[in-house]
Amino acid sequence: MFNLKGKVAIVTGAARGIGQSIAIELARNGANVVVSDIISGNVTVNKIKALKKKSFFVNTDVSDKKQVENLIGQTIKKFKKIDIFVNNAGIFITGSTKKLKEETWNKTIDVNLKGQFLCSQAALKYMKKGCSIINISSVAGISGYPQAVAYCASKGGSRLLTKSLAAEYGPLGIRVNSIHPGIIETEMTKGLLTDKKIKQGMLTRIPLKRTGEPIDITGPAVFLASDASSYITGEEIIVDGG
Ligand code: NAD
Repeated sequence: MFNLKGKVAIVTGAARGIGQSIAIELARNGANVVVSDIISGNVTVNKIKALKKKSFFVNTDVSDKKQVENLIGQTIKKFKKIDIFVNNAGIFITGSTKKLKEETWNKTIDVNLKGQFLCSQAALKYMKKGCSIINISSVAGISGYPQAVAYCASKGGSRLLTKSLAAEYGPLGIRVNSIHPGIIETEMTKGLLTDKKIKQGMLTRIPLKRTGEPIDITGPAVFLASDASSYITGEEIIVDGG
């Protein structure tokens, strides 16, 4: 357990998957959590309330500056501060580079990279010494993968967005780190993982011999959110089974 008592967190894309798990674990460790997504986040909100922590949902498309400002505004109105921001919302569209539509490139960069920038920029206006931003990147932000040029570029961008913000805001005592999940079983990877041959091929390359679950990402996220990591910034944690 980490001590997040009295802290206020915002998690984007928290209606399901990794974001939902992180939001719940932040609450279990003591934080009040604002849940945001483009789909209903009420299930997550109710799970957090069951832990006796405060929570509410704000419908937010992270690629839209006005909606992001509304998310921050509503959080400040209700909780008066932001201690932790988790940039988790993301999309994953695969396909050959030759056939990749310009709209798909734009959409991927807008949500996965511009979204993290807009949210960080808006949240940082209210962040002070001791605050923490956590960006969910991917192993695809470190190594290149075929048929995923926009996704890899967006996640590589997230990695360096993290390091740049860490360098700029470190002197103010605000930390910014990234988490790089490998294959995690969520809606995002459902299509990929139902193909037994593809899944088996992936498992041969994972030393821990299993795919990840959203809960596998929560430990590193809660650690980076807490004062237990107070001398860590601009760092990347790879969570991929080895
Ligand atoms: P998911 O699809 O289950 O969850 C993503 C959430 O983001 C959804 O609730 C979705 O509604 C929301 N979202 C999508 N577009 C949005 C937008 N424009 N604004 C706000 N919210 C939006 O997927 P997940 O696996 O839980 O992914 C969470 C994060 O983890 C993503 O950034 C993803 O790229 C990253 N990631 C996932 C894996 C994996 O294997 N699942 C691996 C590496 C990185």
